[in-house]
Amino acid sequence: MATAAELDVSVNPLDAFRTEVREWLAANFPPALKGKDNAMSAIDGPTDLSADEAAWKKAMGDKGWGVPTWPAQYGGGGLDRGQARVLQEEMGRIGAWNPIGGMGVMMFGPTLLEYGNEAQKSEHIPAIAKGEVRWCQGYSEPGAGSDLASLQMFAEDKGNHYVVNGQKTWTSGGQWADKCFALVRTDKSKKHEGISFLLIDMTSPGVEVKPIRLISGSSPFCETFFTDVKVPKENLVGQEGEGWTIGKRLLQHERQNLSGGGSAAGRMFAGKSVSALAKEYRGLDDQGRVTDSDLRMRIVRHEMDSRAFMLTLRRAALESKSNQGPSAATSIMKNVGARITQDRAELSIEIMGMNGLGWEGEGFTDEELTQTRTWLWGKAVSIYGGSSEIQNNVIAKRILGMLDHQ
Ligand SMILES: Cc1cc2nc3c(=O)[nH]c(=O)nc-3n(C[C@H](O)[C@H](O)[C@H](O)COP(=O)(O)OP(=O)(O)OC[C@H]3O[C@@H](n4cnc5c(N)ncnc54)[C@H](O)[C@@H]3O)c2cc1C
Repeated sequence: MATAAELDVSVNPLDAFRTEVREWLAANFPPALKGKDNAMSAIDGPTDLSADEAAWKKAMGDKGWGVPTWPAQYGGGGLDRGQARVLQEEMGRIGAWNPIGGMGVMMFGPTLLEYGNEAQKSEHIPAIAKGEVRWCQGYSEPGAGSDLASLQMFAEDKGNHYVVNGQKTWTSGGQWADKCFALVRTDKSKKHEGISFLLIDMTSPGVEVKPIRLISGSSPFCETFFTDVKVPKENLVGQEGEGWTIGKRLLQHERQNLSGGGSAAGRMFAGKSVSALAKEYRGLDDQGRVTDSDLRMRIVRHEMDSRAFMLTLRRAALESKSNQGPSAATSIMKNVGARITQDRAELSIEIMGMNGLGWEGEGFTDEELTQTRTWLWGKAVSIYGGSSEIQNNVIAKRILGMLDHQ
């Protein structure tokens, strides 16, 4: 016989789940960590975790809620989209944040779930879900960035293993990564069809990383050299020659994350709003408005754009219920997100005047120094994950249906 709750159509099926989430968060999220997500750690590299941070990471990893919609059989949360949204809302309500992230979560995991075989999924997905293994992306080479399919790093077939030789560059977090998902050439006679998707252990003999220093002062990425690196055949994802298809799919996941939901853009939107900065650094008129009317208009325009963009991202996420995953439209989102992020950084520095131009020293607060570095770091947003011009090409070709020569 149906229970009273089952007969009551006014009962929202997500209410019980919301109660469960609240109780679990109350029992597991250390209140001292409220709002203390170390958003810059992805740029500056891993830091030692406090006891609270380690406990929170373990709890989320064990529960699978760091990757809430991934299948439970591989250590994910197994939640549907509605439940995942409830989890996000409840975490936001108490200032809790997701301690499980990185390229494994953002791009490699979803791609492996789609293209990996059973053994690969069982080996790699649970470790990503627990945040135990760091992955880096071996795509770009000195002569292959926008024209990625020109890549030359070669994996020579040696029977039960490959021997890999070549160089990657701009490898984010390469110096801290345990493993690398790489695009390699397995056939020199074909361009796109000669590319394969290979998983390489960064501790293998013959792998060498050299960090590259950025304008912002940090060294978040590396040149990565591969000399006679032995890689077992079982580390090939998909078939030989299928790497271009798999690699492009991964880029869609990357762009979706970079445009808004992921850590990279999240950190660009973190911190004070431009209107809060204007109130702090600029004069206000007797009605409490920023005195400079031109600046005021630009702040309003920026904040409307940001708000509209966030709502669009949310709507797009709700609309993609068909579970097809990200599409070419992620290129539009990436470009708009990059523009808004850079506008915000430029406006912030303009508002702060000299206070926004500090590099070091006692004349500046820590927050001001972070703003300067965030502004400089923001220059990269329209380059990584494929430059804005390349996204425009994707939009022209895949969305507007224009041919290459048009
Ligand atoms: C912070 C950061 C992190 C990165 N992390 C990684 C990583 O982890 N792994 C990885 O593999 N790569 C990474 N990259 C590399 C990134 O993907 C490349 O920088 C990017 O794809 C551009 O390639 P490129 O630098 O070789 O520039 P190029 O391809 O040389 O382009 C130079 C300029 O020419 C323009 N251009 C090129 N071709 C065209 C065209 N057909 N039409 C119009 N304009 C064009 C570009 O838009 C750009 O403005 C990272 C880059 C940055 C900045």
